[in-house]
Amino acid sequence: MLRDRREANQPFSGTRGAGDKAPSCAEFRARCGWRVVFSSRERLKRREQRAEQRAVLVAPLQALLKNAFCVLFPSDCRLCRTPLNNISRVPVCTECLAAIQPVRAPQCVVCGDRLVSAQLLVGDGRCSNCRDYEPEFARALSFGEYEGGLRGLIHLLKYEGVRPVAPVLGDMLARTIAELLPSCEGSTPWIVPVPLHKGKRSDRGFNQAELIARAAMKRMPQRLELATGALIRRRATISQVGLTREQRIANVRDAFRVRDRHGVRGRTVIVVDDVMTTGTTLSECARVLKQAGAERVLAATVARAFHLAPHEAAVQAGFGSHVPAEEETHEAGVPASV
Ligand SMILES: [Zn+2]
Ligand SMILES: [Zn+2]
Repeated sequence: MLRDRREANQPFSGTRGAGDKAPSCAEFRARCGWRVVFSSRERLKRREQRAEQRAVLVAPLQALLKNAFCVLFPSDCRLCRTPLNNISRVPVCTECLAAIQPVRAPQCVVCGDRLVSAQLLVGDGRCSNCRDYEPEFARALSFGEYEGGLRGLIHLLKYEGVRPVAPVLGDMLARTIAELLPSCEGSTPWIVPVPLHKGKRSDRGFNQAELIARAAMKRMPQRLELATGALIRRRATISQVGLTREQRIANVRDAFRVRDRHGVRGRTVIVVDDVMTTGTTLSECARVLKQAGAERVLAATVARAFHLAPHEAAVQAGFGSHVPAEEETHEAGVPASV
């Protein structure tokens, strides 16, 4: 209730004598010259009060439903194993999801690998790998490091078929693609997921890169074209893990073919995948796309397996082609590439 004081120089004195009667509301208003004005602030206050009352009534009901859900469908977070108390199709707790953060380390301006301290001091922003062997893509960017919760989420989708995880990863990919758009130099890029060989796709039931890319497209502020059929994998490749650089290049050489050569010609393309490990696969995709006439090829992935752990990066100035041990154990012997 807003009170509008008309006579500012005649304020109401709140002091009364012992025999005085308390003034009625009307007398009070008459004596002090105050006018009661019902304003939007009054309505807002009442609305807030009603909302508070509703919250008091509904909150226990929500808690009851949550508890009933947990009793009827008990499950643990698939990453940290604590009991889930939220109703979600993603079987991961909010703490684990919140712990997944974007990369903050200094990165190579071309491939996005973590830079070692010596490269930061004397380099041109490129890692030693990119200086020695320039990749075919102009730039590659990833959302986060392929470790911890992010690696767990990707594995849930890729190896356990938990498809509701795809939108979570898609959100991360969308943010990475958005960061790459200024590098597209004004053109609207095609988004091309790295294809799986048809045998592998049939075994898995889906191509994780395509699922994540579809989810990412729904989250982009502007409309981009997802060209899933532009590139095909014409032969299966063995795991890249444990191979030398030359062996990796030979392994993926001519494994891809551009099906839509007409569509690709003169276009900027962003190749997308779930994980970038050595970058050889993405580089080969970029090579064939450019050969087919693509103007510029960039790459975006949800996760990046850095060659060196932070403490190694601090002490080592050069590195080879180390791939995380976990990836070695998981993919070893699988007759298709990551
Ligand atoms: Zn958890
Ligand atoms: Zn690099």
